[in-house]
Amino acid sequence: MRLVTMAAIAATGLGAAGAAAQEDFVIPDTVAATATQLADTGLESDLAWNILESLTTEIGPRLGGSEAEARARDWGVQMMNELGFENVRIETFEMPYWTRGEMAASITSPFPQNVAATALGGSASTPQGGLTGEIVFFESFDALLEAPAGSLDGRIAYVNDRMVRAMNGSGYGPANRKRGLGWLEAQARGAVGLVIRSVGTDSHRMPHTGNMSRPTPRSVEQGAVSDVAAAYLQEAYPDFANEPAQSQIPAIAVSAPDADQIERIHAMGETIQMHIHTTGGWQEDTVSGNVIGEIPGRELPDEIIVIGGHLDSWDEGTGAVDDGAGVAITVAAARLIADLPRNPRRTIRVVLFGSEEVGLLGGFDYASRYADSLGDHVLASESDFGAGRVWRFSSSVSDEGTAAMDQVGRILAPYGVVRGDTSGGGGGPDIIPMAMQGVPTFRLEQDGTDYFDLHHTPDDTLDKVDPAALAQNVAVWAATVYLAAELEVDFRTPDEQDGHD
Ligand code: ZN
Ligand code: ZN
Repeated sequence: MRLVTMAAIAATGLGAAGAAAQEDFVIPDTVAATATQLADTGLESDLAWNILESLTTEIGPRLGGSEAEARARDWGVQMMNELGFENVRIETFEMPYWTRGEMAASITSPFPQNVAATALGGSASTPQGGLTGEIVFFESFDALLEAPAGSLDGRIAYVNDRMVRAMNGSGYGPANRKRGLGWLEAQARGAVGLVIRSVGTDSHRMPHTGNMSRPTPRSVEQGAVSDVAAAYLQEAYPDFANEPAQSQIPAIAVSAPDADQIERIHAMGETIQMHIHTTGGWQEDTVSGNVIGEIPGRELPDEIIVIGGHLDSWDEGTGAVDDGAGVAITVAAARLIADLPRNPRRTIRVVLFGSEEVGLLGGFDYASRYADSLGDHVLASESDFGAGRVWRFSSSVSDEGTAAMDQVGRILAPYGVVRGDTSGGGGGPDIIPMAMQGVPTFRLEQDGTDYFDLHHTPDDTLDKVDPAALAQNVAVWAATVYLAAELEVDFRTPDEQDGHD
């Protein structure tokens, strides 16, 4: 009964939208039936689970640039070959390589005790024996930005900024500012270290790691950093246009309960001293790479639909939800499509991106390597928001393509998916470099209510994944990607075609 009601609601909404835009696009009955059949098969399929179990068990943690990530690439090649993908290959690229090393942190005064902490990606190591300093407490990242130059000399900046739980993850961006450029703002004001409340929504003693940002002259021009930091960059990193500025201070995240502890002691009016010891830092440059496999199109093999997830993970968990799930979902969906009696019209290219966590390096390498053929990339999307159910379908395509996607949305409705935005939806992190070059995108948005409980923690492990939710992802990905590859519709806007033809 519930499914029938949802379909009826979706149909009403789409009818109104379609009338305002243009005539309804018609999906041929046989094509629609095949899409529904694919989705029904996906709901019953355990293929994604088996892929995810294999990756998280046989490879485990796979930090971008590490030997484990190289093993994951070999695993990916073998897995795609066994599943019958064509043109399976690894495309490597060089990258800067950071490793975590050892980590210990404690409050030394007024109430001595250890805290659960982890280094942020890109953190500098502490001096031999660690460093001890007084905490300067900032309730928010914005409060840190208001501190004058020199005001943190010899001390440790602490930034609180709690993350708000939300189904679409909208609390992440605001809370993540302190992780991205907190190091620079603290260092520019004289701080010898940065401590942040973990960017996450759980209340467990699990610190969340994640990459720190490196400013570019362009981002500085666009106002990404404060005036204090901008002036400091010019002075301390005169060559930062060519060599991205890296943190010279240790930057760590403490778990939520430990952040609560610091907050309480601060509220008592006490001066807090902390000790930090971390040996993380930059190593020699290393190699990462993308793993690619294809289902060649039967009529338009040069027209590419890119889907995928990222193969790397942070080093502390086994990367089940971030992003083993995305790898498993998109590979399994493509495999279901390959099982059809004949391939769809366009080529489906599955890309398992390398080194996403440490700067979208695989996404950027892909976009530059295929710069000449991006005009033939008709659609792209990455699954990288955990393993929760897909609940909304958004797209950013031509008007004609939008009308077709509205009808795709009607086919997805019985599987619990509503139609979402039709512009600026974005296709996932590794798709950004392609989308910046005009490749149209879609997104199967997942319920991320619990995603940031696990995100970038040691707790990101297979047992957190619900097999039924994973299968629902496969179902809607298989139907959507099949329709995108089969329908006679142009997803690119006319301008972009003129530019590339
Ligand atoms: Zn991810
Ligand atoms: Zn991540």
